Amino acid sequence: MGSDISGMSPDVDLLVIGAGPAGLSAGQYGARAGLKTLVLEKTAPGGQALLIDRLENYPGWGAGGEALSGFDFIQNLQTQMADFGASLLNEEAVAIKKDGSLFRVTLAGGAEKTAAAVILATGALRRTLGVPGEARYTGRGVSYCATCDGPFFRRKKVFVIGGGDAACDEAWFLARLASKVVVVHRRDRFRAQRALAERVLCHPAIEVRFNTILREIKGDDDAVSSVVLERLPVTPTESEPLVYEDDGAAVFIFAGTEPQSGLAPDAAKDEAGYLRTGARMETSLPGLFAAGDLRAGAFRQVVTACADGAAAAHYAAAWIDAQRGAAYGAPA
Ligand code: NAP
Repeated sequence: MGSDISGMSPDVDLLVIGAGPAGLSAGQYGARAGLKTLVLEKTAPGGQALLIDRLENYPGWGAGGEALSGFDFIQNLQTQMADFGASLLNEEAVAIKKDGSLFRVTLAGGAEKTAAAVILATGALRRTLGVPGEARYTGRGVSYCATCDGPFFRRKKVFVIGGGDAACDEAWFLARLASKVVVVHRRDRFRAQRALAERVLCHPAIEVRFNTILREIKGDDDAVSSVVLERLPVTPTESEPLVYEDDGAAVFIFAGTEPQSGLAPDAAKDEAGYLRTGARMETSLPGLFAAGDLRAGAFRQVVTACADGAAAAHYAAAWIDAQRGAAYGAPA
């Protein structure tokens, strides 16, 4: 490990924050590039990938029905990263400060880690809708994870809200368990990839209600029993929205994600708060890189998160080399 221009040695060369597919891949590539690399994770490694029942679209894996679960995939990534020599620390980063050419990262307990470069791979969290009943019944019929909670609703009718990849993927998963899945989407078409959307539209146990909005979730003290839906007028004969109540035991909400970009308040972001980066994954702050779901414009797949992490670590290593070369006065 080298020292910076002021002669100060950081604790590590590369600090990665977040241990989902992007962060674990960055850790692996950082260590392979010869950098002393530390990955911080505030909860369990894996992030949203842990919610994947079958990772069937990772190129080169899963042919012939041999797809891994998200959990097993993350275990493999973690082992591989450790084999290459990167460390994982179960700590939450709460602030990042640039001090000369060093980054100072404050941990939740008040301790500090210094690094020559930082990769943010903190991902994105599921968005809530804020409709009446949503907060009250969360964990009692309202869920944001079909793999986790679907088995509680075997042979029951359930609702899925949303029209993106997650809604279509999870509706298809739930159709294996539930007696009926009703997908409620506010627009007249899915946003999801065609392959996922078609699988939902063709499934005999899934009914899709387009142009429909969830207005309320109702139930008794312990459980969801119905939803209030509003069908928007779309044909000339429908002049008024139709508001109606429909029975069901659970509501699975997949209304998109919120970027976890709060550690970089000064870095450039898009209008939704995702971090803007160049092709080398660098943010607008020199030495601060971003990878995975919190990057603006990302396709947001496991495979692209891994690729982002690898690229971010590669360019972070080049950036550190350039800084140190300048510090030691590389021959012209
Ligand atoms: P998303 O693509 O942003 O889709 C969110 C969906 O929720 C949209 O259909 C949106 O409607 C709807 N929505 C948003 N706010 C709403 C509201 N207030 N009320 C009702 N509906 C609302 O998010 P995602 O499906 O969670 O996916 C996130 C990322 O992960 C994406 O990049 C996706 O590709 C990726 N992903 C990939 C896979 C896979 O490849 N198998 C699986 C899961 C996720 P509009 O369409 O009208 O905007």
